[in-house]
Amino acid sequence: MPNEPVDQHRCLSDPAYLADTLREALAPIELDLLLWRLAELLHQRLGFDCVAFGVVEGPGVSFREAHGTRAACALRPSGGWHLPERAGALARALERRETVRCGAARRAAGAEAERGEDSGCAVVPLVHQQSVAAVLVVGEPAGGRLAPEAVRLLEQVAALAAPCVTSAVRLEQAQRRAAYLQIESDLSRLTMASPDRGQLIGMVCRGLVDRLRVTFAALVICDETGRFPVLARYASAAPFAEGVDAESWPARVLAGAGAAALAEQSPWRCDDVREQADVQPMAVGTRSVLALPIGLLGDVMGVLEVEHPAAGYFTDLERARMADLALMLAEALDHAEIFAQQQRRWQHLLLANEMARVASERLDVDEIARRVVRELQDRFRYPTVALWLAEPSQVVLRAVQSQLALDAAVGQRERLGEGCAGWATQQGRVVRVDGVDELGDRRALGPERQSLLCVPIGSAEWPIGALQIESPEPGAFGEDDELLLEALAHALAGVLAGAQALARTQQLREDLTRMIVHDLRNPLQAVQMTLGCLLGGDRPPNDARELLRESGRCIDEMLELVSSLLDVSRFEDGQMRLRLAPAVLNDHLRAVVRRLAPLARAKSVQVTTVLSSQLPAMQLDGELVERMLANVVGNALKFTPEGSPVSIQSELVELPRAEWSWVGGAALISVRDSGEGIPAQYHEKIFEKFGQVESRKAGLTTSTGLGLALCRYVVEAHGGRIWVESTGSEGSTFFIALPLAGPGAASTP
Ligand code: ADP
Repeated sequence: MPNEPVDQHRCLSDPAYLADTLREALAPIELDLLLWRLAELLHQRLGFDCVAFGVVEGPGVSFREAHGTRAACALRPSGGWHLPERAGALARALERRETVRCGAARRAAGAEAERGEDSGCAVVPLVHQQSVAAVLVVGEPAGGRLAPEAVRLLEQVAALAAPCVTSAVRLEQAQRRAAYLQIESDLSRLTMASPDRGQLIGMVCRGLVDRLRVTFAALVICDETGRFPVLARYASAAPFAEGVDAESWPARVLAGAGAAALAEQSPWRCDDVREQADVQPMAVGTRSVLALPIGLLGDVMGVLEVEHPAAGYFTDLERARMADLALMLAEALDHAEIFAQQQRRWQHLLLANEMARVASERLDVDEIARRVVRELQDRFRYPTVALWLAEPSQVVLRAVQSQLALDAAVGQRERLGEGCAGWATQQGRVVRVDGVDELGDRRALGPERQSLLCVPIGSAEWPIGALQIESPEPGAFGEDDELLLEALAHALAGVLAGAQALARTQQLREDLTRMIVHDLRNPLQAVQMTLGCLLGGDRPPNDARELLRESGRCIDEMLELVSSLLDVSRFEDGQMRLRLAPAVLNDHLRAVVRRLAPLARAKSVQVTTVLSSQLPAMQLDGELVERMLANVVGNALKFTPEGSPVSIQSELVELPRAEWSWVGGAALISVRDSGEGIPAQYHEKIFEKFGQVESRKAGLTTSTGLGLALCRYVVEAHGGRIWVESTGSEGSTFFIALPLAGPGAASTP
């Protein structure tokens, strides 16, 4: 009968009876259960008041749960469950391999007790094949001593139990060693596979719970202050203890056992949380807690906390093994960090390479946007990636890829200065949101976003667009992401500008073809008709002269167009060589006015010229300068209504002006007309190739928009500047400033 009292005398005289009594208690192979059953039997059935077992571990002894309150008190004085050194009666018993009796339990344990009862005890070693794997400690009855027969009985029990206890101790030790080896080998295998830090930590915590049967294992990586968790993972075999939850545990670890370990920079343990009320375990059922700082070469990065359901579980040996594991983990984390950095650098390079390919493939803007978004998501696993491009007053979403729900679609617009992309693009500054509270009215691209990073492409002066990434986790984007996006935005600015320029050139080419077809066909048709009339002979000969003159004008017009085209492209290709010679600007002005006099007369336009006699001779390409002047004056006549005035002036400006790019004086020509003027937004554009005032394009059949482009090339080739001033309806004044010192005077414009 398991709980029936046993006859102590019969046990002593009848070995078979004793063996039979012990049989059931000795059945378990698991050490804790075996010791518990033996203690239970000695206490409950053999009538010993207080009983405990100590397991020999390295230089120390570790006590398992004792039976009987007095023994528990006596054997767990301030020395704790685990005695790092053997001393006193304990040491003697182990050394002599025989029972040692002593006056007080705490002296037996060799510890300086502050509490516990002052009764004696017997320390009985469990000897098996000359070695001692455990000791049995039994308290003397209060105020008395154990009878010699009782001690003999204990010795017989110890002798019978020794083989089973020894093999259970060996098995447990082997299992623990194997468990550590297993975790370490898993760790090295995973380290070779170069995982991220979260995976590594998670694996170790899981291993500790599954293989070492700890209740709770957690690793918290903290910031430099050691107070704030940066990355944390845990595994647990039990629910969270009261007051602890999935959100708060990392901070609690850092503030509790972790703080002690970090402060001392060495492992910190609590043998029994029931005896140390200020220690807060994370999991239900925990008795022992161990916290170890994780770091390399004094550089602490976090804390490993392990909790076990048995009191006094973390013996010195266990702590040393755990410290080895912690060191290995620190190395693995360091490796993972280095690997992650290399991986990132590698991905940066690949991305840069991809950008170079995108640039060389001459893709259109939308294709570039799609490629960039795809690359960014594939390589860096951002949950949502988007690219916006600027238009005059807004930004347009040109590509988006997301693993999360989206509220936005390609084509969506944000006003410049509003929202994330609109603001970042306009200001040329980064928008970073780390939590949903900071998001405010800056809308994300979909629901449940907590972090957002939006980096401008281009600058406030030259806005091109913005790159945007989003995540459902708070604080998901750091310095690294910002640097990555900025580098990409920088590369993209050039690529996109190139693509936009290419698109513009293609547009121009199409416009040019259309225009040439249009502008050459009209005069060609006129010439063809004239020739047809002359050949047909149905016109009198005196008309023929007039018809030929008309054809000549058409041919001049076509020649003018073709030579403007050729000249502009020669300037663009850098092929135009100026034929410089000393010349007086006023002479060229007079020649132009003379040449255009018939046009002025035909429109009854009064042309006044006020030319400064102080202008010195200058180095000029006379032919080009004259074509340039003819263009400007010709435009003035063309746009001035019948009967209105045009005035032309030349003057000497001796001091340089801020907007000129040369040192010294200039010859300044102004051509003022009384036409309808030029709106401010066209003041730059009309000097570009094919640049025309939009509303007038259709009206003028022979307007190519090449004249002023050529003028600008000519003026700039001479080191000068051409610009227009016009306030709407009061006509326009074109200014041409040429440096007196000649083309060489100009520094880079
Ligand atoms: P084009 O060679 O076709 O005359 P330009 O390059 O000389 O073209 O001029 C470009 C455009 O600038 C014209 O189509 C016209 O819209 C505008 N423009 C040029 N000069 C004047 C002027 N004096 N007054 C008003 N508009 C002008």
